[in-house]
Amino acid sequence: MEAVMVRYGEIFLKSEPVKRRFISIMTGNISLALEAEGLTHCIETPRGRILIFGDEPRRIAALVARTFGVVSVSVCTVTTAAINGLAAAAVEHAERHLRPGMSFAVRARRSGVAGFNSQELGAAVGSAILDRVPEATVDLTTPDYEVFVEAREFGGFVYDEKISGPGGLPYGTQEEVMALLSAGIDSPVASWLMMRRGCRMVHVHMHSGRFGGADGERNVLQNHARLSAWVPGHPLDLLVADMEPFFEVVTALKEPRYRCILCKRFMLRVASILAGERGAYALVNGDNLGQVASQTLANMTVIAPAASVPVLRPLIGFDKEEIVDRARAIGTFEAHPGNVGCTVAPRYPSTAAPAATIALIEEELDVESLAARAAGTVRRYRAKNGEVEEAG
Ligand code: ATP
Ligand code: MG
Repeated sequence: MEAVMVRYGEIFLKSEPVKRRFISIMTGNISLALEAEGLTHCIETPRGRILIFGDEPRRIAALVARTFGVVSVSVCTVTTAAINGLAAAAVEHAERHLRPGMSFAVRARRSGVAGFNSQELGAAVGSAILDRVPEATVDLTTPDYEVFVEAREFGGFVYDEKISGPGGLPYGTQEEVMALLSAGIDSPVASWLMMRRGCRMVHVHMHSGRFGGADGERNVLQNHARLSAWVPGHPLDLLVADMEPFFEVVTALKEPRYRCILCKRFMLRVASILAGERGAYALVNGDNLGQVASQTLANMTVIAPAASVPVLRPLIGFDKEEIVDRARAIGTFEAHPGNVGCTVAPRYPSTAAPAATIALIEEELDVESLAARAAGTVRRYRAKNGEVEEAG
């Protein structure tokens, strides 16, 4: 019999009741992910371990390895916790991979099982493997092949592969946050990082109408759909607000160099209204220190107070290269995004806008009522399992 063994990381450090709650949320998410793919399964949690049984353990393992909170996953052969059973299964595993001349190591663990310790278990399994593949050698430091045997009070487990998961905390263990999602590379990664940290997510996008590129909205919807594939079974909303009227008044100003600051402040203002309506605790954006003029520390300091809830910036200390690598890994990187540029950005944006000047301009434009109006234009797109379901 095979089972999928799931390992989690820092959830271990939580108090017992918190650990139980987090594990139950994580197994709930795993079930949703497996159900979304039609995989029948049964999840057991003996002693805080997570074991999944089902007809297609490999497909189950691949899906579980995309679940937030999971550190790694192994497909195990399940035996009794006796040395003989473990050794027989380990030999079977080793025979598939060990060739003459290769070195190997047995990594043995034991808990709650009497009669032998882990060294004895490792030695017994090692000699059983050598009996079958005598040309192999033991190397405990840098082996070509490793086989893991675990004797637990609830059974014996043998595996030789660990698939890495995303880590983080189970989705839904933290409060809801609202990520400002664009057609670019950064903001989907920012959203993903906060989802990985357990936050329930809602996306918001500011539609620039005739001031934005023709492919902007299509790309945002694509980012939104792709991110929803990371939380299978959970509906993920994208709110799209119309920013065209704001751009109309901003482009009529004779001073173009503050446009990006005004624009980013406006986005935070509108998003704060929407976050307040939904009860989202914070906003998330893809700001990255020094990336563009609106992301100097001086400008971020002027932009941030436009939000009435905290703004989280998970990418603040990343290098662009790291963000791109991450976007590729999570599947949101688009090599040919099409026309997603902004036509409002000035050629020479200010890198340190004076807060008092910005306040005066905003008063003149009556941004507060513009923001309230923009918040009233919201269209909602709900995505699930990687597809946009409906517009409402
Ligand atoms: P890139 O990945 O090319 O940098 P970007 O979308 O991150 O694109 P920035 O000008 O760096 O563009 O914007 C900073 C942050 O502001 C984004 O990460 C995103 O969170 C938010 N943002 C930008 N444009 C929009 C938009 N139209 N709607 C919602 N949020 C936006
Ligand atoms: Mg950016």
